[in-house]
Amino acid sequence: MRCNRKAKIVATLGPASSSPEMIRKLAIAGADVFRLNFSHGTHEDHKARFDIIRGLEKELGHPICILQDLQGPKIRVGTIKGGAVKLEIGKTVRFQLGAEPGDASRVPMPHPEVVKNIMPGHTVMIDDGKLRLTCTGCGDDYFDARVVVGGMLSDRKGVNLPDTDLPISPLTEKDRRDLAFGLSLGVDWVALSFVQRASDVIEAQGLVKGRAAIMAKIEKPAALDRIEDIVPLVDGVMVARGDLGVEIPPEDVPGRQKELIRICRQAAKPVIVATQMLESMIKVPTPTRAEASDVATAIYDSADAVMLSAESASGDYPVEAVAMMDRIITQTEGHKLYRSIIEAIEPTPEHSTAHAIAAAAADVADAIGAAAIVAYTGSGTTSMRAARKRPQVPILSLSSSPAVARRLVLLWGTHSIPTDEIHTYDDMVESAKQHALSSGIAKPGERIVIIAGIPFATIGTTNNIRVVRI
Ligand code: PGA
Ligand code: MN
Repeated sequence: MRCNRKAKIVATLGPASSSPEMIRKLAIAGADVFRLNFSHGTHEDHKARFDIIRGLEKELGHPICILQDLQGPKIRVGTIKGGAVKLEIGKTVRFQLGAEPGDASRVPMPHPEVVKNIMPGHTVMIDDGKLRLTCTGCGDDYFDARVVVGGMLSDRKGVNLPDTDLPISPLTEKDRRDLAFGLSLGVDWVALSFVQRASDVIEAQGLVKGRAAIMAKIEKPAALDRIEDIVPLVDGVMVARGDLGVEIPPEDVPGRQKELIRICRQAAKPVIVATQMLESMIKVPTPTRAEASDVATAIYDSADAVMLSAESASGDYPVEAVAMMDRIITQTEGHKLYRSIIEAIEPTPEHSTAHAIAAAAADVADAIGAAAIVAYTGSGTTSMRAARKRPQVPILSLSSSPAVARRLVLLWGTHSIPTDEIHTYDDMVESAKQHALSSGIAKPGERIVIIAGIPFATIGTTNNIRVVRI
């Protein structure tokens, strides 16, 4: 198999995509990573999907990456008498701690941390921002808010508080149970929703204990403010534009997307652009021009991956959505302006041996017309550094850890395969040649550029570069 596309596709599984046939079709159509969304579905549902993916991996003969997405502390109002009520512009609503069903003047707010931390002037958004209120006053067990944008409020609608810094863990009791379950299955990545600060990530690391890579979903202004503290701690980032676009004005999202991708690329960490990419394909088999352009923009921004949510999880055209994404990516990467655009946003060089070697590999490969860069990696960092350069040639990533090999499937331009343990330099060269051939990435007579950290047992070094002819 040849690596004919650099950016990867993440497809969320759900009711529309849970049969073995459907998951297989999605993988064949181009899904590289499957997302198990723990905001929906039971543990049994997720286990069934997990087992199907691992079975498929054996059948297709290449690693498939599984991302567990934890729901996080999603704030919701309680129930309303009769199920729904109209909030009128200009009226004041009391948000009362407790669960007593509410009405137009009093809405239950079963989250003490919200009542405790909200302050007059803070914005309260409900139902993905469809309703908007401003906090006018607070008491011990309530806060008042004036309706700025009114409409129907129904039971258990989600609440976003962009101005309120909540001293809560991004891991609820449910998340902790879900996380333990996901780790017991063997998920490759765990995504944390509504991360606000570095300590949120540290808390998750304490639970994950290296058994999966950790991704921070950036969907709160607080996380944007502290992004320089968060990125160094995580293994990857998701630009979670759904909630982000509610918490910050939609017109700010495109610029933030570009910023986040650059920060991640500078840090050599993979970044996913998510949500509403092909939204209209939930119902119709073709995207709007604006959606096609949105996917292409993420590719020109040099994101590692683009993601489908409801399009693949619960839409009417999951396979068509993956196939469409694949076509948009391929066309964009093949466009004559593509290279010059992504080269213009190349990260500033890092003055370390590891980064210099990875960068040199890309230059050497280009200069001599090599077929691929082969990265030997224990922890994954050598491949991440190679991908950071966004080289023209494919990166063949070899790791003796199947778990690391699966994680790296998410990386831009990287064809990741697990290998046997290697011990000597000669073994490494031999195995690089063999895998380059058997994967179809290189042909006999072509050259490959091998990078690795030597000695092999030392994690995190990249200090060796070698050119060999196959
Ligand atoms: P969600 O995350 O789909 O879990 O809300 C993605 C987003 O907010 O964009
Ligand atoms: Mn979200």
